[in-house]
Amino acid sequence: MRILITNDDGIHAPGLKTLENIARSLSDDVWVVAPETDQSGAAHSLSLNDPLRKRRVAPQRYAVKGTPTDCVIMAVRHIIPGPPPDLVLSGVNRGSNLADDVTYSGTVAGAIEGTLLGIASMALSQNYTFGEEAKLRWHTAESLAPDLIRRLFEAGLPPNVMLNINFPDLEPGEVKGTVITRQGKRDQGLMTIREHKDGRSIPYYWIGFERKLSKPAEGTDLWALYEGLVSVTPLGTDLTHKESCERFARVLEV
Ligand code: MN
Repeated sequence: MRILITNDDGIHAPGLKTLENIARSLSDDVWVVAPETDQSGAAHSLSLNDPLRKRRVAPQRYAVKGTPTDCVIMAVRHIIPGPPPDLVLSGVNRGSNLADDVTYSGTVAGAIEGTLLGIASMALSQNYTFGEEAKLRWHTAESLAPDLIRRLFEAGLPPNVMLNINFPDLEPGEVKGTVITRQGKRDQGLMTIREHKDGRSIPYYWIGFERKLSKPAEGTDLWALYEGLVSVTPLGTDLTHKESCERFARVLEV
């Protein structure tokens, strides 16, 4: 089995090393193509106004100056000779990708791009307590992911469907199980703008986050992590809201 791994935290991220260990436990044919720099929040963006640069770091290991989407396209269409990968794994992200995070996430986007190229793809993220990054439990994802990925891959992914996998902030032995979930919704306005002043007192801004706990509905990705479960959410690349089609079709009939 040929595996391509990428991420959005960049080629030097500890989670990429974790994912490499996971992938190597499944196959000897692992290719790494990851962004040169942190692309968290890049979502499914393509670089159209800047050229892509590739840097060979080691055999079957490349850094690309670009987004996770650029990396997957570069890997499949240019870097990897011979047959395309059988599996694309993206992550392991520093922090969870749940609920509203999904459409901002470069980690999820790496798996979306693999799916669009017709390759079975999964995004992996390790939750941690905000402000306590030093205690990030990479070993939880590393110990639980190989068996989970193997089982999900062998079951087969439908066309145009990827899997968004999140690991809770617990020791591997404390994790209560694995559930299939649906994408949740946070119930707090979490985005804030923080104003600061530069050396000439001119204001500049950072997007900030309030990490308040939501009250997620049972069966959602957020709920699963609060319950100490590994969350597996099948996500479709078709974003059509089918229930609304009829309603708006009726509007246009009038
Ligand atoms: Mn990230």
